[in-house]
Amino acid sequence: MTTPTTPSTTLAAAPTTAAAPSAPVAVSLVGSTGSIGTQAVEVVRRDPQRFQVVALAAWRSVDLLVQQAHELHPQLVAIGDPALASEVAERLPAGVELAVGADGLVAAARCGEVVVNGVVGFAGLPVTLAALAAGRRLALANKESLIAGAPVVQQVRRTPGAEIVPVDSEHCALHQCLRSGEGPDEVGRLVLTASGGPFRGRRAAELADVGVDEALAHPTWAMGPKITVDSSTLMNKGLEVIEAHELFEIDYDRIEVVIHPQSIVHSMVEFVDGATVAQLSNPDMRLPIGYALAYPRRLEHPFGTLDWTQLRRLDFELPDRGAFRCLALAESAGRQGGLAPAWLNGANEVAVAAFLDGRIGWSTIADVVEDTLGACEQHPVHEVGDVVDADGRARRHAEAVVRRRERAA
Ligand code: MG
Repeated sequence: MTTPTTPSTTLAAAPTTAAAPSAPVAVSLVGSTGSIGTQAVEVVRRDPQRFQVVALAAWRSVDLLVQQAHELHPQLVAIGDPALASEVAERLPAGVELAVGADGLVAAARCGEVVVNGVVGFAGLPVTLAALAAGRRLALANKESLIAGAPVVQQVRRTPGAEIVPVDSEHCALHQCLRSGEGPDEVGRLVLTASGGPFRGRRAAELADVGVDEALAHPTWAMGPKITVDSSTLMNKGLEVIEAHELFEIDYDRIEVVIHPQSIVHSMVEFVDGATVAQLSNPDMRLPIGYALAYPRRLEHPFGTLDWTQLRRLDFELPDRGAFRCLALAESAGRQGGLAPAWLNGANEVAVAAFLDGRIGWSTIADVVEDTLGACEQHPVHEVGDVVDADGRARRHAEAVVRRRERAA
């Protein structure tokens, strides 16, 4: 009888996944009352031995923030709007520290081992920077901070201990596909999937009169209003192309977008040998949130699994960049690099807010973004103020375009 020996071709074990953690992971939830934040609370609630919330932060949703504080017993609570500070202070459990204003959110972003950035839009940039500068693992749902702030975020990302684990479902999928450690030189292309949103298949002429309610009726994902409108214009996918470039250091020629209406394949990596690895699951944000919280381990209790008896087909088609111009505009801004993504993002935030307020039509969103991107001024970026300045210039330009288009209507 021979003793079995370990063959020399055995794959190395994935790093640091062996032992279950003994102490709970300290979690800071910034943007705890929004769509991402409330779903993160559901993940934590399911696994109280594993996760301990140490900080909660919200901009102005006092009732829910206070309720979360009573349930989760954090050490720190932050409220962004200073006018609401006294009300929050009166209602917090005894012994909880209160932090106020934008600085309060930054204080929360320095807490814990994992920081969830679920703030909406460019306002999330200080949170991203603070968490990375403090050497935290950043569970990044706020893609705008990485996209617009890339020149400064990439610098602070090199802080020892700092790490970004994407919560955005497509990038979380790519992160999972790349876990075995292949480098950028082994990646043939990243394939980002897009549901296509509520207007998939419509031509430009059929999109002129679509309303806010239609844009907010996403077929597969339940999300906040800003990202849902971005999904309807495909700006969300365009922003995600830039996000993928920044996260995984893959050049734009190797990032593709395909429409996949079932939202089951969350993205794919094609390697240089032609092999494609995909991540599949139900469209449920609690999976990527839990992935980022538990990384490098896996959540033990899934929020649903695929039912292969019900799943009949997976469709893929090319996006229509003529009808959905925001996708092409974002790709163009990404290729320009520098401050162009900040201009693109600032213009888009102004245009989406104007659309949600009923000031402009859906198809005018792309007009506002295109006009603003055409006015983009490139400067060297030395510090965060340079990015904030570019965002401000873009917003002022976009707002002027919105006002012109309002008058013309
Ligand atoms: Mg996404």
